[in-house]
Amino acid sequence: MRMWSTLRKFDTSFKDSQLTTNSGCGLPSLSNATIRPLRNLVRRPKNNYAHHNEIYETLAPELKIFLASNLLESLPAEIVNLEHLKVLSVRNNKLTSLPQSMSRLRNIVELNVATNKLRYLPWEIVRLVQQTHHPINLHLHPNPFLQAMRPGTGLWDFSTTYSATCWEDVVVTIHKCIKAMLDEEDPDSPLLSRWVETIAKARFDRCQAFREKVPFLPINSRPRIAHAPVYLASSLVTFFGLDGSPLRSPQLAPSLLPADHKVLPIAEQPIRSRERFGQASTMSAAPSLFELCLRKATEFPIFSSLENYLPMDVPDAVERGLQTAQGVLEGGGIHCSVCEKSYIITRAEWIEYWHLPQDSDRFSTDELALPFLRRACSTACAHCVFTERDAPVNNDSTVDA
Ligand SMILES: [Zn+2]
Repeated sequence: MRMWSTLRKFDTSFKDSQLTTNSGCGLPSLSNATIRPLRNLVRRPKNNYAHHNEIYETLAPELKIFLASNLLESLPAEIVNLEHLKVLSVRNNKLTSLPQSMSRLRNIVELNVATNKLRYLPWEIVRLVQQTHHPINLHLHPNPFLQAMRPGTGLWDFSTTYSATCWEDVVVTIHKCIKAMLDEEDPDSPLLSRWVETIAKARFDRCQAFREKVPFLPINSRPRIAHAPVYLASSLVTFFGLDGSPLRSPQLAPSLLPADHKVLPIAEQPIRSRERFGQASTMSAAPSLFELCLRKATEFPIFSSLENYLPMDVPDAVERGLQTAQGVLEGGGIHCSVCEKSYIITRAEWIEYWHLPQDSDRFSTDELALPFLRRACSTACAHCVFTERDAPVNNDSTVDA
């Protein structure tokens, strides 16, 4: 099998539905072709009873991948098609991004991406946590994540939300804690205290809803409650033109920020929807003609060598568009985080800061919020999100049709 010829020299084994490399064996990359066969693995028949159909068991439901301490800079997009993947551990590699369509991994129970070079996570992880009905053990720290504020210290304890009978009790406790931990002179304090309060409120509401369902629960007990992700704030939105080049903006698109850029602040101003998006042309969710041409081009059997057939004077935008389409195709496709349709040219992107619940009630300041990259296929899709939340939109961006 090709997988083995690729991986054998890296001390890799596949046993009991686990793909494992020994730590530090230096695996530099993993291709889609290597991962693809894992979708269809079956257990070989015992005692060579090959004629007995029932002896062939699928290995897929127990699939686990352990690739810790290697040199991986990216994961093959094919990994999100392993529908029955339970565990994915890529701790201590050199990953700078994760595949976008992580929300397809509906059966995952453990995801370990700690100690990589991730600056943000795909927003689809939030969707995955929202949609799965089982807890997911997430190991996301440490990574050099973009922060909405300067790094802070301190440990926030949300355990009082379990025993409190009214929100006012929680507020008193939380504010005592905020007063003890935050310096009022610090410009980040108002934002941090707002986030702590938002998270406490979401946890308290969840606990109350649980107690209503289970009314005879002792008041001091700590039931195992599946807390939901909590939205905290957004960065400015960066818009892109028809050919995918960023439009005028006071800040670079999150995915184009240089590696030493550590803080990406949130935008406070509310959306002025009618002023900025009022014209029907700017609000259209319809794909551009250029976008439709690129989608069609990717269907050609000769698409990967299409560049060789282009005239010498082909416009730069067309060449860039074809390169983008090639990248999207190799990455397994890209879907709008709002309407979920597949597309080629991203028209808007921004960072959303979310609090992702874990088993613990105690979070360090840096763990309170994680940055998630959201991408949209049209200005209308981006607008749809911000209208719902009355959230900020980049005031200086020039939005075209
Ligand atoms: Zn969309």
